[in-house]
Amino acid sequence: SIRVRFAPSPTGMFHVGGARSALFNWAMAKQSGGTLVLRIEDTDASRNSPEWTEGIIRALAWLGMDGGEYEGPYFQSANADKHAQAVRTILDQGRAYYCDCTRDAVIARTGDQNKGYDGFCRDRGLEPGPGRALRFRTPDEGQTVVVDLLRGKPVFENAVLEDFVIARADGSVTFLLANAVDDMSQGITHVVRGEEHLSNAPKQQLLWEALGGEPPVWAHVPVIVNEQRKKLSKRRDKVALEAYQAEGYLAEAMRNYLMLLGWAPSGDREIVPWSEIVEEFRIEDVNTSPAFFDVKKLRAFNGEYIRALPVESFVAECLPFLEEAPFDYDPAVFDRLAPLAQTRVAVLSEIVQMVDFAFLDEPPFDEQSWNKGMKEPAAEILAAAEEAYRDAPWETEELKTRLEQVGAARGLKLGKTQASVRVAVTGRTVGLPLFESLEILGRERTLARIAAARA
Ligand code: GLU
Repeated sequence: SIRVRFAPSPTGMFHVGGARSALFNWAMAKQSGGTLVLRIEDTDASRNSPEWTEGIIRALAWLGMDGGEYEGPYFQSANADKHAQAVRTILDQGRAYYCDCTRDAVIARTGDQNKGYDGFCRDRGLEPGPGRALRFRTPDEGQTVVVDLLRGKPVFENAVLEDFVIARADGSVTFLLANAVDDMSQGITHVVRGEEHLSNAPKQQLLWEALGGEPPVWAHVPVIVNEQRKKLSKRRDKVALEAYQAEGYLAEAMRNYLMLLGWAPSGDREIVPWSEIVEEFRIEDVNTSPAFFDVKKLRAFNGEYIRALPVESFVAECLPFLEEAPFDYDPAVFDRLAPLAQTRVAVLSEIVQMVDFAFLDEPPFDEQSWNKGMKEPAAEILAAAEEAYRDAPWETEELKTRLEQVGAARGLKLGKTQASVRVAVTGRTVGLPLFESLEILGRERTLARIAAARA
């Protein structure tokens, strides 16, 4: 059965692109009864931190991959002996040589910044020593054919593949070596990872072959781009999965959306339950064109997932946001507001602004809303509304009818009268359905706010 792996480097916040790779691998493993291995590639001591590792594990758990869903985590740093052994094997085969060329020296010779190593030290027979890295000698002839489930069989001419470094002058091994050795020793059958690693595949395949392994099948999934069609980057874009979680995206929505970055379920469906995704997902169907990370679409997805929740779950999902809000909320009141809010929030953090009017002593007036809502004849509307509401049965329909009458008497549409009352009572021009909100807020507070707005 298949063994796939997710092999993140813990050098920063866990990225949505990493999350997509993890999900693709997970879906593959699940549908085939195979195994997903989690390997933390923690060999860059200067950029790693345990905090990032914890962040990865937390994020995976949030997405549904808890410890039961994968084998590991393994840590690449624990495999140093295997890496060293692999380097020795390659050396013993005469397939590596020492090299003391600096990058500048190579550029001076080739006259090209972008060209790879020119093979200068290939036949110099240098002994190991300070400042000497170890390079893998790629074959001079023939081809390396990589089997990529998304890209057919890309062919790489061996003569064009540069002799690449496997161990640095300080003895540490490179990504190319450690990653291939770990994949091999962990019995990985399919390597599913980002497109940026495609050019590494032939080099790594040569390492597998040198070490006597049967190379894996590869699948290099497309880059993710932003609205400007630029590769998603942590400098330009919001990429941290945790940031989305903190804003109130649901894991189920995120998971569904991320799977669509390169793949599509059959038919016109986009919102698809995870169990169906797992069944239907075929890595070969992932396309190779850049995948657009459309935050608007993600928001819309999230809104749909929120609306599909049982209301109690919606309430529960809102709690962390309410706990952090600048007011003390009353759970009984919130229970009444929740059904109104559930159809109107796209991300859970929006709940705070939507219900704050019910929990703050004074609604937070936003200047623009105020100017809009208090346009003439607002004073007159508010005076009439106060009057009409003083002895009204305190109930949604009645509150609506009374305000309609206030408007009708002045030739005003309900929208206009409603806007003034809404701003007076909630501080904003948009929000939950007004009359339900008034009913929940109660007569006393409603009247006090209308009076205050008139003053
Ligand atoms: N640690 C590498 C990365 O995060 C892994 C690449 C791979 O999946 O082979 O880019």
